[in-house]
Amino acid sequence: MAVRVTSGQRRRCFGLLRSAGDVWACVLEVNGWRRRRQDAPLTGYQALCRELSGSGPGTFGELDSVGARSVLRRFSDAWFAAAKARKDGDLSARFPRRRRALMPVRWHHGTFTLDGRRVRIPTAQGASPLWLRLAREVPYPVEQVRSVTLLCEGGRLFLDITAEVPVAVYPPGEGPDPGRVAGVDLGIIHPYAVAGPDGEGMLVSGRAIRAEHRMHLADTKARRRAVARRAPKPGQRGSRRWRKYRRRARLVEGRHRRRVRQAQHEAARQVVSWAVEQRVGVLRVGDPRGVLDIDAGRRHNLRLRQWQIGRLMQVLTDKAVQAGITVDPVNERGTSSTCPACLRRVPKPRGRTLSCPHCQFIGHRDLVAAAIIATRIPGGGPTTSAAVVLPEVVTHRRAGRHLPGAGQSRRDPRRPHRVARGSVGLRRPAPPPGGESLASTARIHNGASEAR
Ligand SMILES: [Zn+2]
Repeated sequence: MAVRVTSGQRRRCFGLLRSAGDVWACVLEVNGWRRRRQDAPLTGYQALCRELSGSGPGTFGELDSVGARSVLRRFSDAWFAAAKARKDGDLSARFPRRRRALMPVRWHHGTFTLDGRRVRIPTAQGASPLWLRLAREVPYPVEQVRSVTLLCEGGRLFLDITAEVPVAVYPPGEGPDPGRVAGVDLGIIHPYAVAGPDGEGMLVSGRAIRAEHRMHLADTKARRRAVARRAPKPGQRGSRRWRKYRRRARLVEGRHRRRVRQAQHEAARQVVSWAVEQRVGVLRVGDPRGVLDIDAGRRHNLRLRQWQIGRLMQVLTDKAVQAGITVDPVNERGTSSTCPACLRRVPKPRGRTLSCPHCQFIGHRDLVAAAIIATRIPGGGPTTSAAVVLPEVVTHRRAGRHLPGAGQSRRDPRRPHRVARGSVGLRRPAPPPGGESLASTARIHNGASEAR
């Protein structure tokens, strides 16, 4: 949640974040000394807390001991996570070693006060109380809020609010059924393609997100070119004009990130609402994170990074768990290059349509992949043997409808317009209640090509 602050409050908040950065730097420093003395590193939370209380009050400005301990907790958790990953053979996992000027600070339940839109952040003894105003009401009852975290992103202050939210309850016979399984394929053009039981499917289009990425990249490049001449040399102090440019760049970057995140949340929400409607109890998600380790060249690497696959999985899991739906990651190897009819490998399709050279099967590539993912078993291998249920009735949704440019031509102007479309009998019913005005339901044969 964004916070509304006066300049004085802003200065104090940044003081807290900077002090937290100092705590982090101190832990790194202490461990550096210990390493040089060949002592065991100080990593346990308790031991770190003892060290902190030994430093005495006032060492870290206005930061109170609860806030400082949250930084120690973060260090300890990061250290043990890295140690575990390294023990399991992942040598790319690194121990925390980088200093950061600003570090998020967390306060747990009972240390802060939440009063409507106002929050009191605890500060060190002797400092005057720090009240912040939130941009909107906290959507949870006060007693459910477990912790608040102060952080800075793109030059703006935010308060992360963690609350304990109950899992949705349904009337008997209407809740998610664990026997009903749907497969989810994560993608770039379609962030989520879902194949459910009974031949129902869903496609969420992410073209607006991709357009937002493209426009942002073009914009950033143009702006960089324009100011490259004025960039300060290493060691030189930037001019006022340069600092203004940097400020503007941070602002634009932050706005871009918020837009994409909003669109991703909308997409996940649509999938989960659909799954609840279909009474799907288990979502099997193809986990393609293996592809991120492969170097795919400059352009494609950027595309993969913008995809933010971890975030897509995270938001879907969060929303699904809250709705009482289980999410199982499964091996997705070969799901987009296997024919669902004859189960033979087919060359990876370039467009959205998968056509099998062995048995003349034609279908939508992402929906086919989702249908195959639905048959995979968590922890099982990348083989497909069970009968694949292809979606016949597909619900189309769009993510990021609010994005600027989303309503304009969604066609890439550099590519020729393709007229051929395989959709048959396109049906546009009245929009369902809830205001999904742009939604449409298309009946497609044999999973044939989507409308666009
Ligand atoms: Zn085939």
